[in-house]
Amino acid sequence: MSRQNHIKQAFELSAKFLAHKTYNSLTHAVLHYFCSLDGIEDAASYEIFGDSNSDTGLSIRRFPLTLDESFVDRNSDLMLKALPKSKGGVTCITFKKKDYIFLDITKDVIPRRIIVITGTASKSDMVLIEGVFGIYENQVALLDSKERDMLTGLPNRQTMELSLNEVVTFHRGHKKSHIKPSWMVVLDIDHFKRVNDTFGHLYGDEVLLHFAELMKKTFRYTDFLFRYGGEEFVVILNNATPEQALNTLNRFHQAVQDYTFPSGNLTVSIGFTIVDPVTPPLLHFEQADRALYHAKNHGRNQIVNFCDIESRIEVRDDDIELF
Ligand code: GH3
Ligand code: MG
Ligand code: MG
Repeated sequence: MSRQNHIKQAFELSAKFLAHKTYNSLTHAVLHYFCSLDGIEDAASYEIFGDSNSDTGLSIRRFPLTLDESFVDRNSDLMLKALPKSKGGVTCITFKKKDYIFLDITKDVIPRRIIVITGTASKSDMVLIEGVFGIYENQVALLDSKERDMLTGLPNRQTMELSLNEVVTFHRGHKKSHIKPSWMVVLDIDHFKRVNDTFGHLYGDEVLLHFAELMKKTFRYTDFLFRYGGEEFVVILNNATPEQALNTLNRFHQAVQDYTFPSGNLTVSIGFTIVDPVTPPLLHFEQADRALYHAKNHGRNQIVNFCDIESRIEVRDDDIELF
């Protein structure tokens, strides 16, 4: 390719990537571009929370997230090996006789992001990959400030609303398939005000950070986690039967009880509801929140399914019209 064409291609590429307004669509476009290059088999992106030296450890979540439970991520061994050594930027590595290009954003973003490209690229494509990486790195920092909560690195309330729309739309298109349901879950720390009142706001922040780390460790990477606001969090639990959903929530509920937070022990109240394709997306949040409210009003430290409180609402005689 001539030098002029090369420059033209680079400008077109940067214009294309700068047009993406969300982290989700930008990352999809970047991964798609890498996969289109000669010699590249696959590209996947990861979010790295915590670090291996801290007491909460390392938690790696894959993107794009898939709702297919049978999916197995083939990069996990490579990630564990390469992560501690990586100093950021673009590195070519060989692992178990396979070639990879490892892209590591370490600057100013929480969580840290990694893109693993499987395969080898020509010299001129490597120049483009490095250029795209530079643009991606800057755009991610910019989009994070809109889409994420700065304390925990979790997506915020606005991002939750977009994700919920996507999940409901997904289920609308897969009504008769083997895909198991998704669940809308709202979690609220019990008596959190006491933590602030006793230890101060900064300590309170530290507790919220530990709580978020515990969520990242307990839920699968195919579940979507959000900080809704204050000490309230949301999980969209994917691909789980009613029994599996309840087991997962019980496990997290227990994990909170067993965990020693910087302020001591805590409990959490949880409300949840099934994602029903015919229910408007935001109504799912309202239902889960009503279940949470029920949990708070019945002694806290418990899990309530919206359908259980619904069926318990008694029909009064004067509500029934006779014809
Ligand atoms: P309940 O069991 O009913 O949920 O009681 P609670 O004390 O947890 O709930 P309440 O809504 O009364 O108080 C929530 C507290 O969370 C009050 C507020 O100061 C605190 N909070 C909200 N956002 C933050 C934050 O970002 N950092 C800290 N440290 N505290 C926060
Ligand atoms: Mg609370
Ligand atoms: Mg609250």
